[in-house]
Amino acid sequence: MFERVDFYAGDPILGLMVEYANDSNPNKVNLGVGVYYDENNVLPVLECVKTAEQRIADPISARPYLPMEGLPGHRKACQDLLFGKDAQVLQDKRVATIATIGGSGALKVGADFINAWFPQAKCYVSDPTWGNHISIFEGSGIEVGKYPYYDKATGTVKFDELIAFFNTLNKDDVVLLHPCCHNPTGVDLTQAQWDELLQVVQQRELIPFMDIAYQGFGEDMDSDAYAIRKAVDMGLPLFVSNSFSKNLSLYGERVGGLSVVCPTEEEAERVFGQLKFTVRRIYSSPPSHGGRVVDIVMNDEALHKQWVGEVYGMRDRIKAMRLKLKSVLETKVPGRNFDYLTTQNGMFSFTGLTPEQVERLKTEFGIYMVSNSRMCVAGLNGNNIDYVANAMAEVLK
Ligand code: PMP
Repeated sequence: MFERVDFYAGDPILGLMVEYANDSNPNKVNLGVGVYYDENNVLPVLECVKTAEQRIADPISARPYLPMEGLPGHRKACQDLLFGKDAQVLQDKRVATIATIGGSGALKVGADFINAWFPQAKCYVSDPTWGNHISIFEGSGIEVGKYPYYDKATGTVKFDELIAFFNTLNKDDVVLLHPCCHNPTGVDLTQAQWDELLQVVQQRELIPFMDIAYQGFGEDMDSDAYAIRKAVDMGLPLFVSNSFSKNLSLYGERVGGLSVVCPTEEEAERVFGQLKFTVRRIYSSPPSHGGRVVDIVMNDEALHKQWVGEVYGMRDRIKAMRLKLKSVLETKVPGRNFDYLTTQNGMFSFTGLTPEQVERLKTEFGIYMVSNSRMCVAGLNGNNIDYVANAMAEVLK
């Protein structure tokens, strides 16, 4: 009966996690999945989250269904973080925001909404992008194309080609953009480049969909949201999906948000209603526990401040690992340029290793990174960095 069902080869990144778990090499290092581990190779529970959890646990309270759109405090947390607490667009009530099941849930609800209300739209993603962007949009019935982005030869953005490509797109085509910490390359646009790109988006009446999963890991909370706020200032309609998985270290709680910036309050109300309907027919309402943690941490002044400090602590540790790896590799592999390690932003680094070199790292050294050469820098620490640098030097010989 089910023999005609296609075999699923598994997700390339999640599959690596399983392979890593089954590897008996005592020196193994996980640089595959986009998860932040601390200096002791432990997945941290943030202090601000611990406090929130204590408040939720005492007294233990009932667990009613949440509304389709999630908790008001969760939704407000998304809005304040993305657009700025006092943003005019929020005061004008032009943003429809729902809490979602992680950033992935936000992308899915957004893609279903776009397919329903902009059925002609195609979606364009950066080449390369996080693989699930393509799966999610295609899964919603949207045709997905790629726009030029990463230049392997120079390790920078092919900006002229990118602009020329956007100039060929049609009204209402969706362009999926990474406001900061591009996944998988770590290579971001400068603010001047964002200004230029968004002008083309405006002229050609494209629909920008910004997916931000690493706010706070690039420069800082506000600079990382530059592209979002610029688009709002320009009066563009805008979709924003955000994830709290990384910056609250709440991966398994599945917390994120979807915000749609509309030209008027009246349109925002309509969109809000349709977002709720979209949720209703997929999963009805989001889970409450993670939503309550987000609400407590983000809306309590002291906890929010503590949270920002903790995110910057993670950011700074990653930056320190980048510097260290660069300096060790420079001495071990003279003549090769490793500047990319410190110019790229966020958790990921595109190392430029060939698939064969990546495979050797795995089989000979138990070091796991994605076959496209993406390394999760947040998996490095003082104990494994020399081992990784030596192994990289070895396969680069
Ligand atoms: N967008 C990007 C760019 C991501 O890297 C990720 C997580 N890997 C997501 C969205 C999804 O986030 P979440 O885990 O919260 O669903």
